[in-house]
Amino acid sequence: MARIAYVNGRYVSIDTPAVAIEDRGYQFADGIYEVCKVVRGRFCDLERHLDRLERSLDAMGMPMPMSRRALALVMEETWRRNALPDAVIYLQVSRGTAPRNHAFGASMRPSLVVTVRAAKFPSGAELEKGVGVISLPDERWANCHIKSISLLPNILAKQQAAKAGCREAWLLDEQGRVTEGSSSNAWIVDGEGRLVTRPLGREILGGITRSVVIELAKRDGIEVVERAFTLEEAKAAREAFLTSTTSLVLPVTAIDGTPVANGHPGSVTRRLAELYAEAEGMATAA
Ligand code: PMP
Repeated sequence: MARIAYVNGRYVSIDTPAVAIEDRGYQFADGIYEVCKVVRGRFCDLERHLDRLERSLDAMGMPMPMSRRALALVMEETWRRNALPDAVIYLQVSRGTAPRNHAFGASMRPSLVVTVRAAKFPSGAELEKGVGVISLPDERWANCHIKSISLLPNILAKQQAAKAGCREAWLLDEQGRVTEGSSSNAWIVDGEGRLVTRPLGREILGGITRSVVIELAKRDGIEVVERAFTLEEAKAAREAFLTSTTSLVLPVTAIDGTPVANGHPGSVTRRLAELYAEAEGMATAA
């Protein structure tokens, strides 16, 4: 079945050329996006995703392309037309279309694209074994809390990770501390069994999975410390993992080729993966 996309008021086949050449998203990466998942027909954490979308738009000085309610309906309808019970919904808002010029006018009409694809969550084997990450300097801009479509440093970092046979690149600030992954948040479990992840700020994207996992951990009696950690700390940690909407809670068992602890997923990570899978209505990972 052909995949269907929503583009500025129309439902079209995904391969239809439907975006203007002078769309500022295409010309300048002047836009933001959101990614959320649908599990067994249920949109996961939709309100949190829409909250973050509004925050990103606000930070860019862009209006909502339509009301929140209408946006949710468009997402649902695009999902329905693709007939995929487990799906990933991608929503992109650009500032709009205008003759190419860096500066933009005050009354631009944002352009909205919604696409849907089959969800490809980590396999049971990946969750069992964990994944490797490499470290790279964080070469991104100073506003990483905005979910901008301008992802050049992220994709180049991910490509290097893939070339090294790794799942993700953990990015390092100038002090050698991990900010986050190229498309996920980074976590360790310290020697006292505390969960450690970088605090919210301009250096990271506030992951929706991150916020859900913090709540689940606290409810389960696991202490959470939001502070930056160094690459050395991560390599010496008891456990490490990454989180994102599509990677879920994924154990990291090697960093730059160094095994984390005994090289197997740890018990806190497994527990959180299980709690997260339950909370999102997915079959448990185990
Ligand atoms: N950081 C970055 C840079 C990301 O691209 C993502 C994935 N969108 C995340 C963190 C994780 O965010 P979420 O849990 O909302 O998917």
